[in-house]
Amino acid sequence: MTVSVVYPGSFDPVTYGHIDVIQRAASRFSRLIVACLQNAGKDPMFDVEERIALLEEVTGDLRNVEVAAFDGLLVDFCREHDVRLVVKGLRAVSDFEYELQMAQMNRSIGGVETLFLTASPIYSFLSSSLVKEIARFGGDVTDFVPPPVADRMRARRW
Ligand code: ADP
Repeated sequence: MTVSVVYPGSFDPVTYGHIDVIQRAASRFSRLIVACLQNAGKDPMFDVEERIALLEEVTGDLRNVEVAAFDGLLVDFCREHDVRLVVKGLRAVSDFEYELQMAQMNRSIGGVETLFLTASPIYSFLSSSLVKEIARFGGDVTDFVPPPVADRMRARRW
């Protein structure tokens, strides 16, 4: 059976937590599309082209993983790509309330089911926003993001 899944997010930037979810989902499904949200909040660190380039670079060894930009409704993206299953990572109870609401809405408006993967304990505290905050103050992010991402963050002028 061929089952495709979509993994949506801002990925501003991609962290080891995201990569862990990507690897785990990619090893269980035939095809995984990482859907990178174009409009990632008010002040994204990287524009969507850079976020996608980094995602492609760090997932290049996974042959069933594709990366695409997405804007608008996730259910429309799923329909356009002929996918009916979304994968999300759940870190803590704080993620749960919003994710539950989104999952129920996506099933209601588009018949899209959401599958939650619990964060690996070593990454359960990791978020893009925290990593950006560390980088902004000159901290070391090498434990949290892959080398090409850490290089790009260091190269950023603030
Ligand atoms: P964030 O800024 O929270 O990292 P994203 O929108 O890029 O936000 O996250 C996309 C998806 O990845 C969400 O389902 C989020 O819960 C999940 N995710 C983010 N970080 C992790 C992590 N460390 N472990 C597991 N899942 C994660």
